[in-house]
Amino acid sequence: MNMDGIRGRLTPNRNLSELTWLRVGGAADYLFQPADVDDLALFLRQLDPGIPVFPMGVGSNLIVRDGGLRAVVIRLGRGFNGIKIDGDLITAGAATLDAHVARKAADSGLDLTFLRTIPGSIGGAVRMNAGCYGSYMADVLVSAKIVTRLGELREITAEQLAFQYRQSDLPEGAVLVSAKMRARAGESVVLQARMAAQLQARDKSQPTKDRSAGSTFRNPAGFSSTGEADDVHDLKAWKVIDDAGMRGAIRGGAQMSEKHSNFLINTGGATAADLEGLGEEVRKKVYASCGIQLEWEIKRIGEPQLDKHKTPNFSNT
Ligand SMILES: Cc1cc2nc3c(=O)[nH]c(=O)nc-3n(C[C@H](O)[C@H](O)[C@H](O)COP(=O)(O)OP(=O)(O)OC[C@H]3O[C@@H](n4cnc5c(N)ncnc54)[C@H](O)[C@@H]3O)c2cc1C
Repeated sequence: MNMDGIRGRLTPNRNLSELTWLRVGGAADYLFQPADVDDLALFLRQLDPGIPVFPMGVGSNLIVRDGGLRAVVIRLGRGFNGIKIDGDLITAGAATLDAHVARKAADSGLDLTFLRTIPGSIGGAVRMNAGCYGSYMADVLVSAKIVTRLGELREITAEQLAFQYRQSDLPEGAVLVSAKMRARAGESVVLQARMAAQLQARDKSQPTKDRSAGSTFRNPAGFSSTGEADDVHDLKAWKVIDDAGMRGAIRGGAQMSEKHSNFLINTGGATAADLEGLGEEVRKKVYASCGIQLEWEIKRIGEPQLDKHKTPNFSNT
């Protein structure tokens, strides 16, 4: 691939497993790590528009399939890490970790505490409408900057992102580069205490030390929220998984966690096929037990390991 004037790093055939929390998956055709926004825009302007682009955060919500990804993966680094605070507005680069933003905000007496225990980046948090403890990105986002697939820098509003439960609308191939959030005021010590309590609560109820990608399935439709205004999580995915007898179920190196049955974990030698296969088995068992079709919350990308009897699957679902 020939690129003029690019300052970032372009790596062919880059294994993605070490870039995801679940530590599985094959290689991307290319990994591009832009130096900054201008570099990213220049790269995308020169890239053949026929080549798919996949923006990746820190891989805490991804299963990369074993056959890898026929795309250019864009991973943002240091050039996308800044945090700026102006009154009640916080602007953070898309590569900044959610936890870091929550801590900085609290230091300035602003409440983004819900981000403290989510292990992703701000880009991933906007894309996924990440949230917990009753608050979601949709509740705080004012606007975001993106670089489109054709390399144009644009600002889009929260309305244009059309937040839904664990989802937002981004133009195909667009990369989020920063997000502007508005936070409520709070006393720093109170916010810090709340974050400490949330960390403790997580460790108590979730397998935070295991390799996972967080909740595997969305809470069943009709019981899922998009923001704090309609936070009605009455029917939990973990409950229907338990009822179907799948807590602790194992396939190869994959397991539905004993500690929290909606967490799919890599116990050591799992392949992406083990993890996805176990997830599909859970969906079947839950459907048979209560008629509910669980929907994946974890994004599965790329294609299965090459097998001449199978057709490659390129979907990002
Ligand atoms: C232990 C654990 C606990 C978790 N708890 C929660 C929780 O409480 N609440 C919750 O909501 N999630 C939770 N998650 C899931 C995950 O952390 C979130 O979905 C997070 O927002 C993903 O961010 P990421 O940077 O890892 O994105 P990735 O996993 O890398 O990507 C996720 C999606 O975001 C897109 N994306 C990422 N960065 C960009 C960008 N810059 N531009 C455009 N698109 C981008 C990717 O294309 C992909 O579609 C948890 C995960 C783990 C491992």
